[in-house]
Formats: sequence, structure tokens, C-alpha cells
Amino acid sequence: MTRSQRATNLARTLGAALAAATPQTRADLAVTTSTTRATASRLVDDLVAGGLLQEQVRPDDARRPPGRPGTPLAPGRGVAALGLQVDVDRVAAVVVDLAGEVRAEHVQPGDHRASRPAPVLARLARLAHRALDDARGLDLVGAGLALPGLVGAGPTLLRAPNLGWSGVDLGRLPPPLDGDLAPAVGNEADLAALTVAYAAPGRPGDLADFVYLSGSTGIGGAVVVDGRPVVGRHGWAGEVGHVTVDPDGPVCACGSTGCLELYAGARALASAAGLAGPVASAELARLVEAGDASAVAAVEGAARALGIALSTVVNVLDVPVVVLGGHLRELGEQLRPALERTLSQRVLSASWAPPRVVVAERHPLAPAVGAALGRLQALVADPQPWCDARSAT
Ligand SMILES: [Zn+2]
Repeated sequence: MTRSQRATNLARTLGAALAAATPQTRADLAVTTSTTRATASRLVDDLVAGGLLQEQVRPDDARRPPGRPGTPLAPGRGVAALGLQVDVDRVAAVVVDLAGEVRAEHVQPGDHRASRPAPVLARLARLAHRALDDARGLDLVGAGLALPGLVGAGPTLLRAPNLGWSGVDLGRLPPPLDGDLAPAVGNEADLAALTVAYAAPGRPGDLADFVYLSGSTGIGGAVVVDGRPVVGRHGWAGEVGHVTVDPDGPVCACGSTGCLELYAGARALASAAGLAGPVASAELARLVEAGDASAVAAVEGAARALGIALSTVVNVLDVPVVVLGGHLRELGEQLRPALERTLSQRVLSASWAPPRVVVAERHPLAPAVGAALGRLQALVADPQPWCDARSAT
């Protein structure tokens, strides 16, 4: 078997094992991947040796040798990735294992509007240290960092309007975010969307094609097709929060006017409801349910703005499912009726594929979890270097 065939077969075997709803055996995987039992068994041995799969040995099997064709295989719980998040109101660090379980989680609230990058990134590094301490003993594949802005080569954070950051060199982060744990940096909405696209590393979620909305003060967006964020030529696609709802509207932090996030961002919603300071979306939802007129008007205004912006996105891209994440998740049931109504009016194909609004499952740290998932997905797509490095030691 040539090296490239082995790489392909390792990826197919691991992919088939992780994608299945129930634990697969070597015999199952031989059928799924159309290989012989001997080949499937050899590939599984390599994946088990690399910690990417583990054998589920029942107590009554304890005295039988491992590697039998009928032994069920589970994702390797000893392999994990570090996921990091910088937001306007928090920094977070999580460790997620190959089964998709969050094994460590640290969050520190803060007000990062118009902040300086260095102290915020130093706080993030301290949280990462704590998460890594909790995850001692796990084999880490790498780290991912979710940021609310445009990321360029380098990596450089080109611009994050709500943090007030621009041109931040992310190639030189404080330890432990250097060396092997230098994070792959991505847009927070693109990464958070992975928590919807994947139920666990290598296992697709219920939705493969959708528009995901994220964020808190601002609104991030991601367009996902076939389970992958469509990021465009430079990686900057999906900025639904800066789609114009009203060109004569107020000035946005991005320099444009009347952007969606000025109507549906958390701060904009609180202000429209006549509430001072940042207000939790759950509190706003309670006010709407209690019939508070200002809160009802604020949420209806946000739903209309979302409908105008998202109908444009759906008309252009034919992705008629909208997933509400971030702060919009908590207002999902209050936003849904007016939002679906506006989408039905404005989406040309609504009669044949009615636009659907789905509320994301609770995942308060979706960007950080998604950042870790992104690294684990990269490992699942090409496990050979990992396996070879472990068999060489
Ligand atoms: Zn804007």
C-alpha cells in the first residue's frame, strides 16, 4: 500500500467510525469502507495505537485479547483540542475531546469594548493555562482561537469593530499559546457554526446547510453548506451583522450606516427597550412574555431587521434555514414569528422551500467549543501524520 493510499484509508476508516450513530466494529468498518477485514483491522490497529479510537472492552471480554473483529470501537477520549474565545464581554478557554465532550472550561467576564489587545490576550493565556492544567494527561492536537472580526494571513486580526482592535499580530501570543499550541485563528461565527454542523468530531449534526447567527454586542454570521462554513476568497464571508437594513440609519462601529447589528445586537435591543446598560437576552425575553410594550417593540424591530437582512442572504445563496445562536438564541421564540413572516414575504422561493428559523441548542461558549472542533475536524480529515508520529515514539 502506498503512503497516500494509507493516508486516504486511515481517514476513511476513522471518518466512518466517528460518523456512525453506534459504535462500529472492525468487521462493520470493512463493509462501510469496502476494504477487506484484514486491511480494516490493520488500519484500526493504527488508529487505536494513535489514541484516535479506543476499544470498548466489556468486563466479560477482559481476558480475551484486544483487536478482535467484533470489538466495538469508540472515539479516543485521550485526544483533545484547546478552544479559545475572545468576545466583547468575556474570554474563555475549553478543552474538547474526540468524543465531543467538554473536559475543561474556564470563563472570565469582562468589558472589552474599545480595549487594548495585550492585556486581554494575557488574560486569555492565563485561562488557557488553567484549562490545560485541568486537561493534564490528554494528548492535545492543537488550539483554535475564535475572534469577533476579520482574520487575515499571519495570522493577523485585521479588524474587530466591537473590540476596537485592528491590525493585531496574533503570531506572537503569550505562552502557552505559542509553539505547538499556537492557535489556528478564525472568525467566531464560522467556528461557532461548527457546533451546529457537527454533533461531535466527525459526526454530522442534524443540519448541513444553514445560515448561523452569533454574537452579543455585535452580530456575527456564517453560511454553512454541506457542513462547512463558506468563507469566501479571503475568509471574510458571512458578515450578516453588517448587511444594511436602512442606509439612512445610525452610524455603525464599522463605519457604515444602518447595519443589522444596530437593530438586533444585544446593546441595541436593550437600548430600544429603554433599558440601561447591557441586559441579558433572557431578561428581555421575560419582559416580552410579560407584555412590556417597549420590550415587545424592541424585539419586533429586531425581528423585522433580521428578516430584511436574512431574506437578502437567502435570496442570494438559497440556504433557507436560519440558526439563531449567541444572544439571539435566548430570544429565539420571541423573534421567530415576525422573523419567519418577514422571510416568507421577502424570499422569492418561499412557496417551494419555506424559510425555517431554528434556535441553536444551549452552547454559551459555542465559539470556543467550535474552535476546538475545528482542530479536531482537521485531525479527522487527515489522521496519518498524527498516527505516524505516535507510532514513531
Ligand atoms: Zn456595520
